[in-house]
Amino acid sequence: LQLTVGLLKPDIAGNPTIVSLIEQEILKKKFYILKRKVVRWQKRDSEMFYKQHKENFFYRRLVDCMTSGPIIALLLAKENGITDWRKLMGPTKVYKSQFTDPNTIRGRFGLTDTRNTVHGSDSVQSAAEETSFFFPDFNAN
Ligand code: ATP
Ligand code: MG
Repeated sequence: LQLTVGLLKPDIAGNPTIVSLIEQEILKKKFYILKRKVVRWQKRDSEMFYKQHKENFFYRRLVDCMTSGPIIALLLAKENGITDWRKLMGPTKVYKSQFTDPNTIRGRFGLTDTRNTVHGSDSVQSAAEETSFFFPDFNAN
């Protein structure tokens, strides 16, 4: 099984109805939820996590959004977990998710290109880094 980290972003993490709909969907798609944790980010956590976007016009907006409330971090496992979780999330941008993939999580709950409800690791390398970042006590062996 492949590990991946899913984040439920502050735009929805405080909404128990949406959180439980998303978690039901995750289980229905045959992911295991190995770990679950609620975290609150300081600016520096957010800036570090999204440092690859430092030069983008939306960086400040993204950093502020990710510090605006609690985040729910999930450690997910499934065959092809990285790709399958990103498929379930849907496209980054809201015009795409709502119009071409309305059944994805972003299609159903996304509000804007920044407040797009969920994050997923985008490679084996970032999944490993994000696993140790959020779940340092998890032993993948
Ligand atoms: P994530 O990394 O959160 O899983 P992603 O890999 O689909 O999302 P990235 O390109 O890595 O997308 O962008 C990181 C985050 O930055 C997006 O999830 C979104 O919140 C925000 N973002 C990306 N593109 C834009 C944009 N054009 N305008 C506003 N916000 C954006
Ligand atoms: Mg990304």
